[in-house]
Amino acid sequence: SGPETARLVASRVLDVPDFPKPGVVFKDLMPLFADGAVFREVVDGIIAHHGRESFDTVVGIEARGFVIAAAIAYATGVGVVPVRKAGKLPRAAYSASYALEYGEATLEVHQDAFTAGHRVLVVDDVLATGGTAEATMDLVERAGGTVSGFTVLMELGFLGGRERLAPRPVHALLTV
Ligand code: AMP
Repeated sequence: SGPETARLVASRVLDVPDFPKPGVVFKDLMPLFADGAVFREVVDGIIAHHGRESFDTVVGIEARGFVIAAAIAYATGVGVVPVRKAGKLPRAAYSASYALEYGEATLEVHQDAFTAGHRVLVVDDVLATGGTAEATMDLVERAGGTVSGFTVLMELGFLGGRERLAPRPVHALLTV
């Protein structure tokens, strides 16, 4: 159930102060990925929340989103599409840039990544300000997909990502 899954996630995240820079508390979910039983429960919970017939493709955001997306894809029999940082994809790609606290980040997806109208579930580990998720959803739609859902393992509620992404629904296993 929801509260049980939230407790499970909370039990497998480590707070790392001042990483990657002073003042940031990095939410390290590697212990969750490393625990086979918990990882399976989390992946099954995400699939159950959306319904296994509700998406045709799953998108993972580089790099920790790849781990989650691949597991969902394998468990449901859909394909997985990576959204990557700039300069990593070998063929024609769409790019979306967004502001960070200092500077800018760019994400990319192959232009032919989706069959037109395919319903796309987008997943990542942590939702912070929502810039990464917003850019990813824009890329999915420019490439012809339809975003059918968005899930993160953990949401940092005080950074307002959910409000930024509205009216798109955000599913978070744990909100802090
Ligand atoms: P944002 O675009 O601000 O929502 O940041 C979300 C992206 O950055 C995700 O891909 C996260 O993996 C990563 N991220 C941002 N803040 C954190 C944090 N405090 N702990 C772990 N990952 C984070």
